[in-house]
Amino acid sequence: MLPDHVANQIAAGEVVQRPASVVKELLENAVDAKATDIKLIIKDAGKSLVQVIDNGLGMSVTDSRLCFERHATSKIRVAEDLFSLHTKGFRGEALASIAAIAHVEMKTRQEQDELGTHLIIEGSKFVSQDVAVLPKGTSFSVKNLFFNIPARRNFLKSDTVEHRHIVDEFQRVALAHPNIHFTMYHNGSELFNLPASNFRQRIVNIFSGKTNEKLVPVQESTEIVGIQGFVSKPEFAKKNRGEQFFFVNDRFIKSGYLHHAIMAAYEGLLKDGCQPSYFIYLDVPPNTIDINIHPTKTEIKFDDEHALYAILRSSIKHSLGQFNVAPVLDFDRDSNLDTPYDYQNKEASMPLIQVDANFNPFGDPAPTKSYTSGSGSHSSSHSGGGSSYRKPEPSNWESLYVGLKQDTETITEIQDIQFESEEVTGSLFEEKEVEEAVYRTYQIHKKYIVSPIKSGMVIIDQQRAHQRVLYEQFLTNMTVNQASSQQLLFPLNLYFSSSEISLISELEQSLVNTGFVFEEVNEDSVVISGLPVNVTESEVSILLEQLLSDLQDGIPESSFSQNDTIAKSMAKSLAVKTGTYLTEKEQENLVNGLFACKEPNVSPFHKPTFITMRVEDLDKKFAI
Ligand code: ADP
Ligand code: MG
Repeated sequence: MLPDHVANQIAAGEVVQRPASVVKELLENAVDAKATDIKLIIKDAGKSLVQVIDNGLGMSVTDSRLCFERHATSKIRVAEDLFSLHTKGFRGEALASIAAIAHVEMKTRQEQDELGTHLIIEGSKFVSQDVAVLPKGTSFSVKNLFFNIPARRNFLKSDTVEHRHIVDEFQRVALAHPNIHFTMYHNGSELFNLPASNFRQRIVNIFSGKTNEKLVPVQESTEIVGIQGFVSKPEFAKKNRGEQFFFVNDRFIKSGYLHHAIMAAYEGLLKDGCQPSYFIYLDVPPNTIDINIHPTKTEIKFDDEHALYAILRSSIKHSLGQFNVAPVLDFDRDSNLDTPYDYQNKEASMPLIQVDANFNPFGDPAPTKSYTSGSGSHSSSHSGGGSSYRKPEPSNWESLYVGLKQDTETITEIQDIQFESEEVTGSLFEEKEVEEAVYRTYQIHKKYIVSPIKSGMVIIDQQRAHQRVLYEQFLTNMTVNQASSQQLLFPLNLYFSSSEISLISELEQSLVNTGFVFEEVNEDSVVISGLPVNVTESEVSILLEQLLSDLQDGIPESSFSQNDTIAKSMAKSLAVKTGTYLTEKEQENLVNGLFACKEPNVSPFHKPTFITMRVEDLDKKFAI
């Protein structure tokens, strides 16, 4: 058996990689201890000191000793507790790992105790434990990190780099908990002082006052997720990624998938290579996530990733669509920054544009232009002479409009005009009139379809695009039971293993919904007498085999349901492949089919289906 300190060092490699890892663990412990005031003190980028002082619950004498034991935690008792986690910690590993590789001094007192505990532990060895007069709460100082593992110490990066990591961790925790007062000192000077406030103010306090005007609030609440937070207006997008934060149940996480959802919401709004800032706070029921899949816990697994993606994308799109009608928000307001959402329930009214019925352009010289109503149907102006024109006085310009004919119309169906409907489908391609002339498609390398669009050109991956089209088609057919099938003249007899047969009978209804007709399902064979319209006889056996194997090893991502898996698998099997020549008509059908999809941007496997290139981009390439 390895001696303890060796075992500890091995495990410590996971939890404690650098000073910033210590910062994260100590800050999170302080948050878990319900502190309202947390101080972080750093020396030499954490290499000589990381100290966290909190005013939280503190620990009893026994606990202050126990907390350094591996797998000692007060946050869970039984495995089931993992499904209702409300704390950052739960492994009971951090303090043990830190104590194994540093000099740790801990001072702690619980509110109800008169005296506290002062404890020193170095490389897992208890050095001293005393009773002491202490303020309520806990202070951990971690000195000389990796003192007993020179290799790790040498592996640390420059102070600048390590410091950057520490600031990152500090900001992540501070952003997730705006109701806690955080301060950070580095080598004796105050770097951050963040009073308790709301989300918006916390962001502004961390990233400077100028941030405020850049933020657009996002808010959505559904059964599976609550979303709040802010995204940056597109014009403030940056060349580098930088301020991009996701929090799930107050925990900072990274998710390429959700990042993609945000980028999809900005589709068409960003300059090339630019990235928006975002601060998104998701609230999900704790039992629908698994935070235990990554040792440093910044990646988590959601039960219903697809739905989350869709909700996130559409709510951000919605916010971006609204930001210019929203009043400029004052960051001194409280955290319920949902003003724009009140507008959602109001009925929009047509702006009142009034026309002077008596205005005569051929009479006296006109001081102002006349406008006609947006509806275009009321051109009741220019009705003869006898103008009632009076020379306008600057002070009573309103009098010009006195007695004008009322011309109001109200759009009542404003709810129907959603931002969603402005999707690529409608706006990407040229207007109908010029369509015939300009809208053509070209297939290149039997792989991509290229077509001119308003802003430049679109390049479509034919295989992925077709997958998307088929996938949505199958899903719709299966959910509304309206698939048509083609009757076979001679029923097909296909042989399968018994486990495959049992899968097929399990799936029979879903398959029937796609258009299959099963005449018989026997012990080792099936007799098929009808096929989905887009499936040919020669494809059936490959298609079913692929489907069965996809289902057996479960397509490697979370899926809504069997239907989704089936639709994906069939779309994959049936989609035109790269290398297939497409006639002009086929190309056109594919392009139209793609942009009629609900989610044309990505294949069912989340790969981009098309890219666009703007004329400016082309110009740039020629500008050399
Ligand atoms: P975990 O956070 O996973 O429980 P840790 O090793 O980080 O494991 O901490 C072990 C235990 O020590 C915690 O469960 C908690 O009971 C106690 N503890 C750690 N830090 C603090 C603190 N700042 N205030 C009060 N208790 C703490
Ligand atoms: Mg912890």
